[in-house]
Amino acid sequence: MKIIMLGAPGAGKGTQAKMIAEKYSIPHISTGDIFRANIKNGTQLGMEAKKYMDQGLLVPDELTVKILLDRVAQADCAGGYVLDGFPRTIPQAKVLDHALEEIGDKIDFAINVDVPDENIIKRMGGRRACLSCGATYHIEHIPPKKEGICDSCGKELVLRDDDKPETVKNRLDVYHQQTQPLIDFYQAKGILKTVDGTVDMKDVFAAITAILD
Ligand code: ADP
Ligand code: ADP
Ligand code: ZN
Repeated sequence: MKIIMLGAPGAGKGTQAKMIAEKYSIPHISTGDIFRANIKNGTQLGMEAKKYMDQGLLVPDELTVKILLDRVAQADCAGGYVLDGFPRTIPQAKVLDHALEEIGDKIDFAINVDVPDENIIKRMGGRRACLSCGATYHIEHIPPKKEGICDSCGKELVLRDDDKPETVKNRLDVYHQQTQPLIDFYQAKGILKTVDGTVDMKDVFAAITAILD
């Protein structure tokens, strides 16, 4: 099963993608996590990507597409995957489509996690991320067992640089301009499924599994 997660920054794509990956035993692929790992390791790609990410802008398609296509070509992706944060532009979606067509394959579902902008702004300030293992928490809604510490790996949790309010506003603008058109793109293909992302994470997940099962 090949799944794409759509939705604004902070809609809960990552939170749901991790649960989907576990339930259906498929890899969770987050381009944001890949970039952050590269920044942490000080790679050339990381340094280039950081320039855009810190401003809330998208990393150029030339950089992003290659990384994603390399990742989905790996052996663990043969049985499917859940993409979180890719595609984010129509050109990215078209490249993915063509790459899949070439191997006689296609995306099965595009799950749109719908959350209005007002809720997003409130959520982002409370997000805490583990840059070591990619786990995400929320100080009020989804707190870690021990404040400031990752449940999964014990490392310190941080407020991401791009989750500061000024940057979140830019990211939402970028989302509306460049990513939201993907909703119509996948609707036209007949694989778009929209779920209400404002409810409790367990209820969002129940709505998603009802679609996938
Ligand atoms: P969120 O989950 O909050 O939307 P991500 O971790 O998906 O954030 O992405 C963080 C940043 O990484 C984005 O703001 C963007 O700069 C960059 N990025 C991630 N995925 C892509 C992509 N597919 N295309 C371009 N930039 C991307
Ligand atoms: P995205 O990957 O779309 O950027 P995340 O999964 O990182 O979004 O979620 C953004 C923030 O909202 C995180 O702090 C996360 O813990 C929290 N969150 C996720 N789902 C819910 C939910 N259903 N209700 C409340 N908060 C949520
Ligand atoms: Zn961790």
